[in-house]
Amino acid sequence: MENLLVLTHVDETGSALTKASLEAVTAGRELAARLGASLTIGIVAADAAAAAGVLASTGARLLAVSGEAFAQPRYTSDAAACEALCRAAAATIVLAPGSSRFSRVGAGVAHRLGGFIDTHITALGGTEAVEATRWFYRQRVEAVLSRDARPWFLLLDAGTHAAFAGEPAAVAVEQVSVELPPLRTTVTGIHAPKQDAQTIRPNAKLLLVAGAGWTKKQADGKIHAEEAGDLILGFLRAAGASLGSSKSLVDQRGEDQPVLPFLTHLNQIGQTGATPRHAMGLSTCCHGEEPHVVGWRFIADRRAISLDPNCGWTRGKADVVYIADAFQVMAKVNALLGAGAGK
Ligand SMILES: Cc1cc2nc3c(=O)[nH]c(=O)nc-3n(C[C@H](O)[C@H](O)[C@H](O)COP(=O)(O)OP(=O)(O)OC[C@H]3O[C@@H](n4cnc5c(N)ncnc54)[C@H](O)[C@@H]3O)c2cc1C
Repeated sequence: MENLLVLTHVDETGSALTKASLEAVTAGRELAARLGASLTIGIVAADAAAAAGVLASTGARLLAVSGEAFAQPRYTSDAAACEALCRAAAATIVLAPGSSRFSRVGAGVAHRLGGFIDTHITALGGTEAVEATRWFYRQRVEAVLSRDARPWFLLLDAGTHAAFAGEPAAVAVEQVSVELPPLRTTVTGIHAPKQDAQTIRPNAKLLLVAGAGWTKKQADGKIHAEEAGDLILGFLRAAGASLGSSKSLVDQRGEDQPVLPFLTHLNQIGQTGATPRHAMGLSTCCHGEEPHVVGWRFIADRRAISLDPNCGWTRGKADVVYIADAFQVMAKVNALLGAGAGK
C-alpha cells in the first residue's frame, strides 16, 4: 500500500498555509481516498501550530518541522525539513505545491531519498496505480505518467485543484526534529515591488492582455502610449486583474518606441511566454496569432477587443470578439467600474 505524504509550507505571514499548499492537500485527500492509501501532511513553518488548525478536519496524520530556521525559504533548511518529513512518514508518494520554495528543493530531496521527481503535474488519476498528468511542448501534448520508482515526488501546478477549506480546530501535530548542517545562507529580507506595482496576479479571476496595438498609430495618425498605460493600469486596479502581454509589445525597445513602462517579459503570454490559469481573459489590441493564443490554453472564458475583423480571435480562438476601438471600450469600461486615472 502507498504511504501518501503532502508537503506544505506557510506564506509570508508565517502562520497560514499557502493557497497552493491547500490545493495540494485537496489533491492528496482525493488520491488517498481513491488508492485506499494512508495520508500524512507535513508542514514546514516557524510555528506550525496555527497552520495545522485548518487541517484538523482532514483526519490526516500531521507532522511538522518548526523553528526560526524554517521561517523563510532557503535551500539547506528547506531540503533538510522535507527530507526529515519524508523519512518520518515513510512516504512512497510525495505531493507538494510547485511553489518556488518547494521547486527549489524537490529534486534534491528526491535524490537524497533515492527517489524520482516529476514536475508541473496538473491532474492525478488512477485507482490501482498513480497516474499523473502533465503537458509538454508548450501545452500542446498532454501525457499521463506512471512510475515504479519510490518515493515518487510530484510537484503540482497551482490552480489545478480547489484549495482545501476545513473548519479550524485544535489538533495534535507531531514535531519532527531536524539536524541542520551549517547554514551558509542568511535571509536578510525580501525586496519586492509594491503591491500596486505588482501586475502579475496568478490568483486573479481575470487576465487582461495588452497587445502591440496599444502603441500603434491610431485613427488620428498619432500614438497614445500614455493614455494606453492609464487605461490599462486603471482597469487592473478597478478589476483586480492580472496583466499579460503579447510578445510584440514586451519586445518593444529603443528611443522611438513608446514602451509601456510597467511591462516586462514576465508578462508575456504564449509559446515563449507563460500559460497562466484564470477563469476569464480579455485580450485588447492583440491580433490573436497562434504562438500567442497557445498561452491561453487554460483560460476558460476568452474575449477579445480588436479593430481587425479578420484577426485570429475571430477565427475560432475566442468565445466573444468585440470589433471595436479598445481605447474607447476600455475608457467606457473603466468609467463603469469607477476607475480613477491609472497613475
Ligand atoms: C517561435 C515564435 C514564438 C512566439 N512566441 C510568442 C509568445 O510567446 N507570445 C506572443 O504574444 N507572441 C509570440 N510570437 C509572436 C506572434 O506570432 C505575434 O507576432 C505576436 O503575438 C503579435 O503581437 P500583437 O498581436 O500584440 O501585435 P500585432 O500583430 O501588431 O497586432 C496588433 C493588433 O492590435 C489591433 N489594434 C490596433 N489598434 C487597436 C485599437 N485601438 N483597438 C483594438 N485593436 C487595435 C490591430 O488591429 C492588430 O490586430 C512568437 C512567434 C514565433 C515565431
